[in-house]
Amino acid sequence: MMDFLIQVVFEVNINQRLKQMVYLKTDEEVELLRAANLLVGQTLAELAKIIQPGVTTRQLDAIAETFIRDHGAVPTFKGFPNPNGDAFPASICASVNHQVVHGIPNDTPLQEGDIVSIDCGTQLNGYCGDSCYTFAVGAISPEVQMLLTTTKEALYKGIEQAIVGHRLGDISYAVQSHCEAQGYGVVREFVGHGIGKEMHEDPQVPNYGRRGNGMLLKNGLCIAIEPMITMGTKEIYMQQDHWGIITRDKKPAAHFEHSVCVRKGQADILSSFEEIEKVLSEKSL
Ligand code: MG
Ligand code: MG
Repeated sequence: MMDFLIQVVFEVNINQRLKQMVYLKTDEEVELLRAANLLVGQTLAELAKIIQPGVTTRQLDAIAETFIRDHGAVPTFKGFPNPNGDAFPASICASVNHQVVHGIPNDTPLQEGDIVSIDCGTQLNGYCGDSCYTFAVGAISPEVQMLLTTTKEALYKGIEQAIVGHRLGDISYAVQSHCEAQGYGVVREFVGHGIGKEMHEDPQVPNYGRRGNGMLLKNGLCIAIEPMITMGTKEIYMQQDHWGIITRDKKPAAHFEHSVCVRKGQADILSSFEEIEKVLSEKSL
């Protein structure tokens, strides 16, 4: 799940926020964050095993919730409030095709050629995990595959910039420039965020920005970087359930997210796609 940087949709202006409270994490805290984030990766890998045509996102949600609770953690998304005060009803966000983010799991079976982004959060021993992966359902078109590939590449381009001495805008620019070079849209209204005891801490981490701008990145800063990238327009609508966000032109969107810790020379990626991608490569054999 991502922070609500919402001027248009919720009429909350980022400039009205009070002074930022940025907590740099100790090494012990980073390990707690890693444990929570690795559990998210394991949960997404469980879902990867069963994502196929005919499966519903409600089924995926039930499996995720059970898996998270069986591992002694709490699904952070369940009950999480939006700015209207509505509680999110599920343990994952499952956003299909032109849904960008915050899709509420439902009973519509996934179909061959769909894409579904599964965003998942855990709280384990008081610290939060948050990570997202966009999955192909069966065979997808080369155009949609390129969207997924580019969005994931953009995430890692951003992570490359998450090092001591760089600035937040370096991350934002890296994500934006990589995606816009392909002609894709970069969603503005939703952003990455600091992560720690709270799922959403300062600073906000936009997927667009200028190199050399923004907060100086310090050792121990833990942030979720999460490009939300559209095949067509970057303009979005909110669905009537007050959660789901869709592209205005109904073209597909992709979303990948890692939680990372800023370090000297190279960021420490706290979440992991390793188990997910092991499952996916075994499925494709
Ligand atoms: Mg997330
Ligand atoms: Mg997030």
